[in-house]
Amino acid sequence: MLVWTQLGLFMATFVIHTFSLCKDPGYLQKPKNITFLQMMMQFDPVLLCPDCEIIRTDRSRHCSICNQCTERFDHHCPWINNCVGSSNHGLFMTFIFLMATLLLTTFVSLIVNFDCYENNVGNAAVRDASGLNFFMPLLLSYESYSKAWIMTANIIALLITGFFLLPVMLLTAIQTRNFCLNKTTSERFAKNKNASTSRTSTYLTSGSEAEIELLGGSVIEAMQTRDHSTATMPCLYNCYDMCCNSKQPDQKKIYLIQSHKNQKIQTRKAGGMHDNSDGSGSPGGNENPIGVKIAQDLEITEDFAAYEQKGGFKL
Ligand SMILES: [Zn+2]
Ligand SMILES: [Zn+2]
Repeated sequence: MLVWTQLGLFMATFVIHTFSLCKDPGYLQKPKNITFLQMMMQFDPVLLCPDCEIIRTDRSRHCSICNQCTERFDHHCPWINNCVGSSNHGLFMTFIFLMATLLLTTFVSLIVNFDCYENNVGNAAVRDASGLNFFMPLLLSYESYSKAWIMTANIIALLITGFFLLPVMLLTAIQTRNFCLNKTTSERFAKNKNASTSRTSTYLTSGSEAEIELLGGSVIEAMQTRDHSTATMPCLYNCYDMCCNSKQPDQKKIYLIQSHKNQKIQTRKAGGMHDNSDGSGSPGGNENPIGVKIAQDLEITEDFAAYEQKGGFKL
């Protein structure tokens, strides 16, 4: 019975491992019809990734091994030879949880059965009940399974499982804590944890809570860590977000919001200069055709109109 359970666990671990290995971890895609030069004209260069030619999002990092920016980057995992990001974090967590269970049950069963050759492999009744009758002849005939041979195999298996058990359990504990806090490993162990000045959403919203709220449901929310601290069980909401929320901020929308903001700055500056020269004219005007065009492009016209009514971007 134990043999079949272990085999089932191994197969499940193998399948989940294959999925997390092949799945796109959430690489940020270059926006269509927007060149890197255009981005350079709108954004502070620290907010752009020259390798991927994309606008960095708050939780993305450039992976030097994959040479791509990954949304909600956790780390690059050599075990799955892939980044762990917003799209495969749930799969990765399932993989390490299954692997920890497999290693732990194997380690414990090896210790329990370590000195019981006569009662286990050497006993025909036990072999019949456990499924060993199926596996043992695949390698050698029954007569070849001596006590010394079994003990040596046990010691080797114990050393291998023991070697991997501790790091896997440690990784599972770290990842479980990450999930409960809705934080990635790179965010928790970063040297500069409060680098809010280099965050794209800070640039887009000027840090105002009201503005973040008005653009809520769009790019800003997709970019930031959701705050569930007021919920009854924040840990569960955080785990759900880490596991299932693979929403990516739309690169085109980020670009359009920033260019709208820059256009307003320029219009105001031009209006101010005009006022000084002849004392007439409105500073920027209220119609703002560029704003209307961008609002249409953003497909958040309703939000944007409300946003504009309440004073627009604070500049
Ligand atoms: Zn990049
Ligand atoms: Zn990577």
